[in-house]
Amino acid sequence: RPLTACRASSRITMASLLSQARTAFMGPPGAPQAPYPGKQYLIGGNWKCNGTKESTAALVATLNGAGDIPAWCEVVVGVPSIHIGSVMGTLRKDIAIAAQDCSATGMGAYTGELSAAMLADYGVKWVILGHSERRTNQGESSALVATKTKQALDAGLSVMVCVGETLEEREAGRIDAVVLDDHMAALKGKFSEAEWARIAIAYEPVWAIGTGKTATPEQAQEVHASIRAWLSTNVSPAIAKATRIQYGGSMKGANAAGLLSKPDIDGGLIGGASLKAEFISGIAAVAPKP
Ligand code: PEP
Repeated sequence: RPLTACRASSRITMASLLSQARTAFMGPPGAPQAPYPGKQYLIGGNWKCNGTKESTAALVATLNGAGDIPAWCEVVVGVPSIHIGSVMGTLRKDIAIAAQDCSATGMGAYTGELSAAMLADYGVKWVILGHSERRTNQGESSALVATKTKQALDAGLSVMVCVGETLEEREAGRIDAVVLDDHMAALKGKFSEAEWARIAIAYEPVWAIGTGKTATPEQAQEVHASIRAWLSTNVSPAIAKATRIQYGGSMKGANAAGLLSKPDIDGGLIGGASLKAEFISGIAAVAPKP
């Protein structure tokens, strides 16, 4: 054989070997999905402050092997910032990566902060903001969440903004006062319609987060419908129709199908169950075909 043919065939062999090795070590290549015509569910995972190097690699392997994601689901996982680099290189490419917070400032003399611009530069696509654990534990106000949302949008990120009432607030009949008149109201007038197109709202009743108590599909639907009505009045009917409103609070394989079947529930934000294969095989996989 002429030398050039030998070189060509060895290049092909090397390329296919590299591809096989990549699949073996990094999981299936996958591809970011084109938006499904009609409703596209947003299934978000929130790994919170969990994971060593070893357990995070194991979780990535679990998710990589957890089965197909329906074309009508967009899947994102909120990764602890220290693990974002490694997860980005190994997680299947049809799951996008979110940060769990960003700073309210740009780059500069802000020790310990992580700016939205840094996340975007690194290839992160989403950020979760205003989670009730941050509102409670770090004292984040709705105004601060709005400022962070603006930073994130300016950097080109998409944002899941979390809203939701505590049990005391629900029992006192203050769901609208908290969710609409405080958490949502802080976002009013701050963003253009093009920016709103990159915002999802995660309705997470605080009493359902990490407690095993889930809002019934009817309870969740009622609040989701009021958030959508708020968007229609305070942003625009087009944004109200297009915005994905996710439910969060002990969502898992056993209750996902019931919740996702409701007309105003466009996805989930999932904590505990996002650390298991069930996140894909029991939640994303059961989202009803629109
Ligand atoms: C969350 O962290 O946003 C959450 C909903 O957690 P869990 O699913 O564990 O209740």
